[in-house]
Amino acid sequence: MKNDKSTALLNEYDRIVPGGVHSNFRRPVYFKKVQGAYLWDVDGNEYLDCVINNGACILGHGDPQVAAAVTETMSNGLTVGLESELSLEVAKQLHEMIPSAEQVRLANTGTEAVMKALMVARAFTGREKIIKVEGCYHGWFDEAQVSVHPDPQESGPADAPIPVLETSGIRHNTTESVLVVPFNNPESLERTLEANKDQVAAMIIEPVVLNSGCIMPQPGYLAEVRRLTEKYGVLLVFDEVITGFRLAPGGAQELFGAVPDLSTFAKAIANGYSLAALAGRKDLMELTRPGRRLTYGGTYNGQYSALAAASVCLRKLKDGTVQKHLDTIGRTLCRRFEREAAEVGVKARIYQCGGEFQIYFTDREIKDYRDACSADQDSYRIFFETVSDKGLWMSAGYLFHHGLTYAHGEAELDKIITAFRAGLEAVRAFQG
Ligand code: PLP
Repeated sequence: MKNDKSTALLNEYDRIVPGGVHSNFRRPVYFKKVQGAYLWDVDGNEYLDCVINNGACILGHGDPQVAAAVTETMSNGLTVGLESELSLEVAKQLHEMIPSAEQVRLANTGTEAVMKALMVARAFTGREKIIKVEGCYHGWFDEAQVSVHPDPQESGPADAPIPVLETSGIRHNTTESVLVVPFNNPESLERTLEANKDQVAAMIIEPVVLNSGCIMPQPGYLAEVRRLTEKYGVLLVFDEVITGFRLAPGGAQELFGAVPDLSTFAKAIANGYSLAALAGRKDLMELTRPGRRLTYGGTYNGQYSALAAASVCLRKLKDGTVQKHLDTIGRTLCRRFEREAAEVGVKARIYQCGGEFQIYFTDREIKDYRDACSADQDSYRIFFETVSDKGLWMSAGYLFHHGLTYAHGEAELDKIITAFRAGLEAVRAFQG
């Protein structure tokens, strides 16, 4: 693909904006228009989007009803810093949709909502430690930046991982208060809880580990996590920043029937507008009430354009039609990919939930982070380069999650599969 204009922009602005991007998870390709399932960059290239704003876009880009609500709502001049009836209505929508949401408060990003959840958990229990799962991502603050994608050589045994700092610039003693467990391994969790009795405030988990691609919980695993955390008096936080509203109108907690104490939402809540929420048990959420000791602030909390988007988006997500479509096309994508991979003769696995999917070049079943990161990175790189050339917008990260929206239909599936076929053939040629 021709990328002259993007390259020129990068060359001009790299000295001002490091790398030419405002998030290290983005590529320096500059866009001027998006609609439905498609993107157009400044060079005039058209892409079929499989990244969908890192999972934030659930209805498709520029959903007309969302866009109209935002335009209309903005005409009264409200932006931030004042409450409005709309902020209460959106909270009520969330309360009605999410099984565990006795109370709700808004924030702007997933990171903020998770930070608040952990503050509430520490304040409630008076304990310091947090348990997180190896391979899960919960944002870019200190505790979240432990063992996201650690080098397995440096992170101890698979069933007893040691916490590894993910980035420079965070407190070295962060690893003293963050314990790490493998996904889908209740025995390891119980050992960790037992060894740290009365010290752990909360366990935080992505109910489906989308930040290592797409790792599904094994039957009964989340129920066991719920049972064990309850047994040890540890609060359970579901990070539903991606699973929220995709797997079911009430998120993963509705689909899997495991009810957390607190949960965090963002991304699909407002179809890509910046809004997040912390939801949970009344006695926990009450700690954030004005006048109590726990600070709950944020100039941009409940900003008006995002509220307008959320009120329409949530209305559309409430009856399950969108989720049914995502599940159907997600499953069809998997079936068709598996058929192509078998025909071409490449060992690959594909997993999906709610239209979020990832492909791993391995024949090993993916049950946890160690399985995911043992997949062949070079084959993924070849696949990525080939499908990108065919006009798919994908991520170069072999542990990234991809996704589909309500705007992806049969025609888009056909295009994706055509590109995937070419990608598989390139991998076959590469593997020899
Ligand atoms: N939690 C999960 C599961 C996420 O996937 C992300 C972002 O990708 C976050 C938290 C952080 O959200 P944000 O990027 O809005 O700060």
